[in-house]
Amino acid sequence: MAAALEHEQRGPRRRLVELLHEQGIKDLAVLNAIDKVPRHLFVPTGVRHRAYEDSALPIGNGQTISQPSIHARYLELLKLKGNEKVLEIGTGSGYQTALLSVLASQVFSIERIPALLDTARETIRQTGFRNISFLLGDGTLGWRQYAPYDAILVGAGAPEVSSTYQEQVTEGGRILIPLGDREEQTLYMFTRRGDKLEQEEIAPVRFVPLVGKYSWEGL
Ligand code: SAH
Repeated sequence: MAAALEHEQRGPRRRLVELLHEQGIKDLAVLNAIDKVPRHLFVPTGVRHRAYEDSALPIGNGQTISQPSIHARYLELLKLKGNEKVLEIGTGSGYQTALLSVLASQVFSIERIPALLDTARETIRQTGFRNISFLLGDGTLGWRQYAPYDAILVGAGAPEVSSTYQEQVTEGGRILIPLGDREEQTLYMFTRRGDKLEQEEIAPVRFVPLVGKYSWEGL
C-alpha cells in the first residue's frame, strides 16, 4: 500500500480501534485489520470527515456501508486464521472486502450494482489489497467456479438461506447472514455439518435487502 495513503488519518483510525476494543472486540487480528484499512477512502468524499465514527454511512445508489462495530463483530465471529477462502455477497464500498483480504488468503466478492463495483474495485486498486476477485452479478447464485468457500458472508438482509450457499460452503464452514424482513433482521451464523446447517442466533441487525433470484420476489 502506498505509504502516504496508509498514514493518512492514522490518529482517528487508532481511536476507532481503541473504541472497538473498549466495546468488547478482543480479536487482535480483527483490530489489526481495522487499523490497516483506510476506511476514509471507501466512503464518498461528502461524508469522509465521519469515516472514523462508529456509524453507518451512505455510499450512493441507496446503499450503506455498515457501522465499523458491526463489521468488527461480524468478522470476529468467523475466527479466520489467515488461510481461508471466503465469499462475500454485496461488495458495496469494498471496505469489508479489504478487511477480509487482510484476514483471509483469498477473497471473492460479488456486487450487483455496476457503479458501486467500479468504485470499490478502483479503491481496492489504489490501496493495494491484491488477493481479491470481483464479480458483477447476482450473489444469491453464489460463485460456483471457485467453490467451496470456508466462509460466506452475506452483507444484505434475506428471507432465508438459499441452498446455493449451503452447497458452496466447506464442511465445517460458516455462513453469516441477516435473516428477517426487508427492514429488520437477525444475524445468524450457520455451520455446515454434512447436509445440515447448525444455527446460531447472533444479534438483531438492519441491513439493506438482498436483491436477487433467491431472495424476496418483486424486488
Ligand atoms: N459490506 C458492504 C455493505 C454493502 S450494503 C460495505 O462494507 O460497504 C449491501 C450491498 O449488497 C449493496 O451494495 C447491494 O447493492 C448489494 N447486494 C444486494 N443484493 C445483492 C445480490 N443479490 N448480489 C450482489 N450484491 C447484492
